[in-house]
Amino acid sequence: MEVRDIEAIPLSHSLPEKRGVGSARGVHTNRATTLIRLETADGLVGWGEAFAPARTVATLAQEQFADRVKGLNPHDAETFVEESYTHGYHFGRSAFTRCAVSGIDIALWDLVGKSVGAPVSELLGRRRDVLEPYASSGYITEWNQPIEEPMRAAVADGFTAAKIKIGRGIEDDYNRVSTAREILGDDATLMVDFNGNYRAKQAIRAVNELTEFNVGWVEEPVAAEDVDGLRRVTETVDVPVAAGEAHFSRFEFERLADERAVDVLQPNLGRCGGFTEARALADLAMSKNLTVRPHVWNSAVGVAAAIQFAASVPQYPHEANIPEPLLFEYDRSSNPLRSDLLVEPFDPTDGELAVPQGSGLGVEIDEAAVERFRVD
Ligand SMILES: [Mg+2]
Repeated sequence: MEVRDIEAIPLSHSLPEKRGVGSARGVHTNRATTLIRLETADGLVGWGEAFAPARTVATLAQEQFADRVKGLNPHDAETFVEESYTHGYHFGRSAFTRCAVSGIDIALWDLVGKSVGAPVSELLGRRRDVLEPYASSGYITEWNQPIEEPMRAAVADGFTAAKIKIGRGIEDDYNRVSTAREILGDDATLMVDFNGNYRAKQAIRAVNELTEFNVGWVEEPVAAEDVDGLRRVTETVDVPVAAGEAHFSRFEFERLADERAVDVLQPNLGRCGGFTEARALADLAMSKNLTVRPHVWNSAVGVAAAIQFAASVPQYPHEANIPEPLLFEYDRSSNPLRSDLLVEPFDPTDGELAVPQGSGLGVEIDEAAVERFRVD
């Protein structure tokens, strides 16, 4: 089996006017990503997602990697990723290179799974068939949506966990978390995300103010590049600290782990380096006694990849004695790149998200829908 053709497909969807969603760092007025479509000589098609600005990374994937990928045996995905560091001596670790490598790696694993008739999670070591989705919502929006609305919607759809955006000042943080907790109820898991908008001491003060609300984790309390600040927050507060969506490559994640800068590693499959890198990170996390929960703000292809990965994440040391739900980020904002690209969309409602049993990523891509959002 060898790859005959690679296509990098930039996708973009502009949100309606004044309907931008985002975080304390600002709002997004469009959703964009790059899909990778690989085809083998015998007609198998593998899909991956490079989660980054669409045309930029589509060009990079074609220019830097097309020649290397053509003729590749998909079973050599790990070699491909290793070589992307070696051959990309000056640029291999850089963000957009990692995104392109991620998309190609995911598509290679999709092909391996399809060629042997097994879901990728089985190739990685499948540990569970069901994930606990959390409603990733409560965004900072252009239209100042009250936090009550997404929280009520999450409860109505049966979510047992949610994450909301904070980080615009401690009083506002307190009010948002207080309202969210009241609507979700005491039994729900509630996480908060600062998107790196505070400095360390400000973040510590904010987290301490939220103690009464039993927050499940605090995400990116300080900027991703401030690893020392992350470590100081992690050392000081009792709540687990999560980060990783803005970190690229095993080298950056190793620093987070080595310096005990976080408690929860959050690789995005479409950015960190795909399944190959995510598996290395899961091994790293286990050896450092850290938790892994993927970051997922992707198109349906990236969601599918993250589901397969999450189904394989070890929960050491809790797996046997203290069953721990595998919390899975499910973006609840309006994004057709997530909701419209699959023949059978995911159903995260009623507190469960089933891991597909089909081969590869376990999903069927609606190629006509892909064409609708194509921008090259
Ligand atoms: Mg986040």
